[in-house]
Amino acid sequence: MIVRRRWTAAATTAILISAALSHPGSAAAAPAPAATPITLAATETALVRVQLRDQAQLDRLVATGADLANRPRARDGRILADLVLTGAQLADLTAQGATATQIVQRAGDGSRHFADSVRAAQARTAAGLRAPGTGQRTTAAVGVDTLAVQQAYWWTTGGQTFLQAQVATTATDDPDVEITVSWRTADGTTGSFPLYRFEDSGEYQYHYNLPQPMPSRPVQLTATSSLGGVSRAVTPALWPNATPPPLPAGYQKDFIDAYLTPVDIQARIKRLARQYRDLVDVIDLPNKTQGYRRNAVAYLGDPAVSAVVVESVRFGDQGMNGVQVRAVDPGRPNRPLTVGYRDRVLTVTLATDAAGKTVSTTDDVAAAINARQANRFRATVEDGSTGLPMPVAGPARLDDGLQGTEVPAKPWTVQALRLGVHRDGSRVGVLAYSQEHAREWATPLVTLEFAERMLANARTDPATRQLLEQVDIFVIPTVNPDGANYSFNDYNFQRKNLVNHCTGPARDPRYRTSWGVDVNRNYTVGSYFDGYVGASANCLSGNYAGTAELSEAESGNVIALAKAHPNIKFAMNVHSYGGYFMWPPGAYRADGRITLPRPSIDESTLFLNSARRIVGAIAQERGTVTWPSQTGPVADVLYSAAGNSADQLYYELGIFAWDFEVGNDRWNPATGEWEGVGFQPPFDEAHGESQEYAGGLVELVRVARDHAAAEAATG
Ligand SMILES: [Zn+2]
Repeated sequence: MIVRRRWTAAATTAILISAALSHPGSAAAAPAPAATPITLAATETALVRVQLRDQAQLDRLVATGADLANRPRARDGRILADLVLTGAQLADLTAQGATATQIVQRAGDGSRHFADSVRAAQARTAAGLRAPGTGQRTTAAVGVDTLAVQQAYWWTTGGQTFLQAQVATTATDDPDVEITVSWRTADGTTGSFPLYRFEDSGEYQYHYNLPQPMPSRPVQLTATSSLGGVSRAVTPALWPNATPPPLPAGYQKDFIDAYLTPVDIQARIKRLARQYRDLVDVIDLPNKTQGYRRNAVAYLGDPAVSAVVVESVRFGDQGMNGVQVRAVDPGRPNRPLTVGYRDRVLTVTLATDAAGKTVSTTDDVAAAINARQANRFRATVEDGSTGLPMPVAGPARLDDGLQGTEVPAKPWTVQALRLGVHRDGSRVGVLAYSQEHAREWATPLVTLEFAERMLANARTDPATRQLLEQVDIFVIPTVNPDGANYSFNDYNFQRKNLVNHCTGPARDPRYRTSWGVDVNRNYTVGSYFDGYVGASANCLSGNYAGTAELSEAESGNVIALAKAHPNIKFAMNVHSYGGYFMWPPGAYRADGRITLPRPSIDESTLFLNSARRIVGAIAQERGTVTWPSQTGPVADVLYSAAGNSADQLYYELGIFAWDFEVGNDRWNPATGEWEGVGFQPPFDEAHGESQEYAGGLVELVRVARDHAAAEAATG
């Protein structure tokens, strides 16, 4: 079978004359892979940027439930993916032709960066202190194919100018078409770079490049194809070309001085409600979560040889941690298999034959426990132990394995802040919610910084006060507190919630870091259950959709809040990382890549124009520019995310619903590479993200205000 390449390298073509270039990374030739090999200890887990060998390798990873941290991208015609991997898994991938290019974050980095941030905060206290489609379009049928320059944008960040282009060829079915862009600056410097073919779900989308450094502002761009097509010359446009109002003198910001756990967030919500009584309500969302709890579990036997997994029906903290289980030899011949529970010890007495030898199998033991102690215990045969003789074993101690000691072990009440002068539904509503995904530690920092900026400045800045007069703001800082508690205390790469729907061998505690439901795949529109792509029925997958639409308390809470407040017309779902800004449609069906319906032209214009304003506001803080190639409908800028929350908010409730992926790649001028920042970067970076994206949310409030005013004006 021929494996179709979705990403194809476009080498330089003979048609173009490449001028000498003074900037590393802007040369047309592909840079060499990292010279120093990156290695991990076999059992170490890390977030690694990996250059995969081909599309088939990515497809295999996805099929086996790989934890993709970011959307795969093209580089040098290969696929670049950020994956949470053990050293053993990385070694396997490397043996199959993949190359690790960056350790984005090691498992221990999260807790170190958390501890660093808290220490620094304590020290300070002690010290008393796409626009898709808007670029020029031009076509010229010169050769076999016709090229359309769909986007050509430039911008400057940190003193460095970048250029990004998106070009479509009419030769959509030819995976080997190579497209090259040549550019010229005002002073006559020229150069070129290749574009990469982007195919999604088997359908050609366009060719594009990661932002390329330029010596100065580019004034002309031309695309040529290996089939002979040449576009007309276009003038790249400035991106995003939108600037928010300047901050007034005395504007207050920077309310975040450390990473915040769910317990910290709870305290912060309480403090804000107390401090700004006249402007804040705290809303308890209706569905309590499971809480930071798990069933207590133990192996009866040796899982490397032969064992049964025994777990409590109740959670460990409900009196089941410390319960013991053992398998004993009755010491007499011809005994039946029996199960008894006394004094917090579950005793399995194995069956014996006429010679007094024990003859029960692992399957017999699991079945006997399930038959006779179903109200207290559940047993499954350890994967690989089926049909094996059950050894005399134990006593083994059941334990929930949870490490966090300062987390309340009870159902959790998720809270929303409601900010505004008129909190009565009479003003247009804006909803900002974060941490659907547990490990995205920077995201509640964004929404809480935003909330406190609005509140603090309402007292000192007339413009902010006026915004709070005109807009009704809802903020859910942590949608998934149970998963977040687990991420802070147990396994920092936890993405999902803590509800374990697995059955059978998948309940083996060796899979404990893979359990849970992907909250942002559990909504009702364009869902896995409706046949859309980008979620999984495998309970161990990073994108597990749950047992049904809205099966989880966490997703139900977001929808319940939106439904209870029909004045909410705008929403931002804050995730990390990668620097994306997206809106519906967010999902498509695999067969034919049929997306959810496209917004109308008017609505698309609103999404895009508002996005440019918000991207401009984000850039105001430290110059971070979200790339045009990563600004647009979810389904276009790369991905199908079946059952995500923004799609339900938009299609069912009529809310303009966006997604942020905060944490943009940083340009490394020394290597000429864009580098990923990860889920739990050193606190300085997370702090920077909180500041810039809080500015983006403030601009979203202005967008809502302007939209409401325009609606009122037109009646
Ligand atoms: Zn996320």
